Amino acid sequence: MKKIFLCSICNINSGTCSEDCKFCSQSIKYRADIQRYIHKPLDAIVNEARYIEAKGALGFCLVTAQKGLDDKTLEFVCKVAHAVTNAAPRLRLIACNGTASLDQLRTLKAAGIVAYNHNLETSESFYPNICTTHSWQERYTTCKNVNASGLKLLTGGIFGLGESHEDRVSMLHAIASLNPISVPINFYHHNEALPLAPNPLSIDDALALLRLTRTMVPRADRIMVAGGRELLFKERTKEIFDHGVNAIVIGNYLTTSGCDADSDLQMLQALHLGIATSPQDA
Ligand code: SF4
Repeated sequence: MKKIFLCSICNINSGTCSEDCKFCSQSIKYRADIQRYIHKPLDAIVNEARYIEAKGALGFCLVTAQKGLDDKTLEFVCKVAHAVTNAAPRLRLIACNGTASLDQLRTLKAAGIVAYNHNLETSESFYPNICTTHSWQERYTTCKNVNASGLKLLTGGIFGLGESHEDRVSMLHAIASLNPISVPINFYHHNEALPLAPNPLSIDDALALLRLTRTMVPRADRIMVAGGRELLFKERTKEIFDHGVNAIVIGNYLTTSGCDADSDLQMLQALHLGIATSPQDA
């Protein structure tokens, strides 16, 4: 039986970023109507971890909305990692905290983080169209730091930002060159406050891009559909598993609501898909 790796994301700091990524409602520049807070309370994080562990998730990703790690954020993420490890020991902790140095990544690893997620987002040449406050090369360097630190690398991107097919192929080449264990693919979820046009991809386009991702990054253990899944695929969500996908995010996303976890579990059961109970399963 094919097994699906379930991951959950926890926005431990929200909507406080001074970068200008045009797809991101967490940038303070666009004044999107989202929840904003410096630190989510520790007990709320621990409750989310326990809940999602009970639903069968293996991955739990601690996300902060800033350009990168500074001393205070690093200390907070480590504190959260210790608390979640004690409360929900079966979860594999992932950190997603932007630009990070080798030393910072080693500190996270020592605190119990097993993987780091840092998406390339799009191609190097298209990147200046969606962000002017930091460079694509800086993102690529952080991914290389992750590999050097001994943490597992998760890196992917977003489709539907206005990029060309050549940009998508270029991004996937770059992702493959980093040898990630998992490739999170997002589909742009439009928000009226953001300066981008709505995502132009059809469901068939998106399925073809998932297949292309699986083909171009053959050594990755997992191709994961993250943000935009429910909005784009709707009742055709089940088809993603026929196009190389073996991991999904369950529960809510960073600033948008997903399906409730039980609906996804029912969908997997109806499709006769199992739930991975170890990373080797998926
Ligand atoms: S750096 Fe990250 S959190 Fe900040 S605006 Fe860009 S995508 Fe959003």
